[in-house]
Amino acid sequence: MTNFGILARQGKSLATLIAASGSFLIGMILPLDIWSKQTNTSIATVNQTTNNTVNIPTSKNSKNPENLEVIKIKSVVAKRVNKAKQKLRSLELQTFNFNIPKRFEGETIKEAALKRKDKVIALTFDDGPWDEITEKVLEILDENNIKATFFVVGQHLNRRQEIGKKITEAGHVIGNHTWNHPDQSGKMSEDRIKSEIGRTAELIYKITGRTTTLFRPPGGVLTNGLADYAKERKHTIVLWSADSVDWYYKSPQKITKKVMDKASNGGIILLHDGGGPRDHVVQALPTIISKLKKQGYEFVTIPELLTIKDKELHQQELAKKVTQQE
Ligand SMILES: [Zn+2]
Repeated sequence: MTNFGILARQGKSLATLIAASGSFLIGMILPLDIWSKQTNTSIATVNQTTNNTVNIPTSKNSKNPENLEVIKIKSVVAKRVNKAKQKLRSLELQTFNFNIPKRFEGETIKEAALKRKDKVIALTFDDGPWDEITEKVLEILDENNIKATFFVVGQHLNRRQEIGKKITEAGHVIGNHTWNHPDQSGKMSEDRIKSEIGRTAELIYKITGRTTTLFRPPGGVLTNGLADYAKERKHTIVLWSADSVDWYYKSPQKITKKVMDKASNGGIILLHDGGGPRDHVVQALPTIISKLKKQGYEFVTIPELLTIKDKELHQQELAKKVTQQE
């Protein structure tokens, strides 16, 4: 892509962000206005609410009408703010989510172990897109306001292009998981390697308009030449630290336990939304999410996880420099 193309895209994203901010403000005012009409309050009175000088007419049927009405306003505003925040975050992710910090270019990672107290973890889904399953996974993620990373198989994406599009439109990240999913350990021919990765990358770009430098070798195999080829092209090889083993175990309870046993701060969870029947994954997902939330985890995409790790490493390097100078 030319520099001009990139600039044009960034300009477009910026315009979208500004537009979103505008609708955010309108959204803040709108429910108050509607509410004011319902209670016969003048707009002037409603405007005063922003200065914390609420003057609301009392209702005959309620014990504490003023309190009730203030609560009503607060909850409407809170809902609107939350929705606008989500919208802005997803726009932000659409613009920046594929950027990987330089230090992870050409590296292989299994996790990004973090020292900080705020716990984060990355959900990753392999081998899709798949009929019904991927969309169900997207729904669950959306309900929980979670962004994840999908390592797609080219031939599956080719057959389900609309579902693939939905993944990035919802603010999730796509990584390359080859065209045919070859997981043999023996060396593959250069032509085959090129086509497995290149063809998938081209299709991802065609469907989503995005390029990705995240590569997950099928089966986690690092010896057949696929990972080497991707590394040479500055891709980050993304493995995992918490395997759900969902391709083997069909019990939602079992795969939930597998994930929870290995969950860690900065960890990467491996799940599958495609490549075979995955109903048990859909069944387990809400429980996995709620258990991790209870343990204080926030969910991040792989680029977000690597950015957090990059910052932590940067701070450690700075602290080291300071100690050396002292
Ligand atoms: Zn796979």
